[in-house]
Amino acid sequence: MAPKFIPVWQELGADHWPESPAKIMVPLAKPRGESRLVLLEESKGLKWTTANSNVEVAVVAKDETLHALNSYLVNLSLAKADRESLLGAFQARVTSSLSNGGQLLSVTGRSVGQSSIKAGSTLLNVVVTKAIDYDITFKFLRCLNDDGTMIDATTHKPSEVDGWINQLHWILGSQANIWFVSTDRRTFDIPKQLGFPLKKATINSVKEFADEMDHSADVTVYLVGRYIGDSSSGTTFPNLSSQGDICIVLDDKCKEIPVVKGDDPFILTLAHELVHFVLDRRGQMGKEHHLFDLDKVLLSKKTESTVLSASTLDMLYPPTKN
Ligand SMILES: [Zn+2]
Repeated sequence: MAPKFIPVWQELGADHWPESPAKIMVPLAKPRGESRLVLLEESKGLKWTTANSNVEVAVVAKDETLHALNSYLVNLSLAKADRESLLGAFQARVTSSLSNGGQLLSVTGRSVGQSSIKAGSTLLNVVVTKAIDYDITFKFLRCLNDDGTMIDATTHKPSEVDGWINQLHWILGSQANIWFVSTDRRTFDIPKQLGFPLKKATINSVKEFADEMDHSADVTVYLVGRYIGDSSSGTTFPNLSSQGDICIVLDDKCKEIPVVKGDDPFILTLAHELVHFVLDRRGQMGKEHHLFDLDKVLLSKKTESTVLSASTLDMLYPPTKN
């Protein structure tokens, strides 16, 4: 059997480990000193080599495993319950791997750019990146109902935002080194009867959506209740305001899209639209971001999961532009 690289990463809520990927992101170790952990299995004592000095790879000693898993998770600002459930799952998986001859490797990013780790004929591509932070504002719609009274259009509440941000840390922070800081979360009123479900045309024509965008943030996310985009539950609008700001509109439940069992379709759709936002911001606005051939990854047009694919990492961090 060929050796396998298996990153120590698992979806929140879904109990399967992603397939051995073609590429992972490793954060630049300075200034936070982070590393990523990868299992090397079926390697029968094979040594590995790295393509260049952008990454440094070391074996984690058996009695250092728990410490290594703990410091990996602590650096990611997760909710306590998620951190504990991931730690338990990782410990079980790593222990079983080590007792079957696997090795736990710690991969540290030394310089920004592309690299790879090779064991036998198996290659794991790596991109070392600096952290990117974006400010994000969440706005919760209130509008007039049929008899003219002002009501909450969405069942979501500003108090949920911190939990969403924590899950985004895991999905986009740990996999792509992209972090969101919530600068504001508040309700906003449109004193009109909008007609539900809202459509793209509503967002484009009701000027309050452009007016309400938070220009001090990088992206404004609107929670609007029932919303249907182009056969999707969310839409990224790169050109709604004349100032070039980007906003995202999300349905409350996002049940339109097929997701891997255990994944939360709302959080997944939020992460999906935020990747559109990041790619738009990084000059990829005209390009197709969706993946039509890949299954069980973020942005897949088949079944979606929160696993970031190598092709999305390549769009975020193009190999030719180190
Ligand atoms: Zn999309």
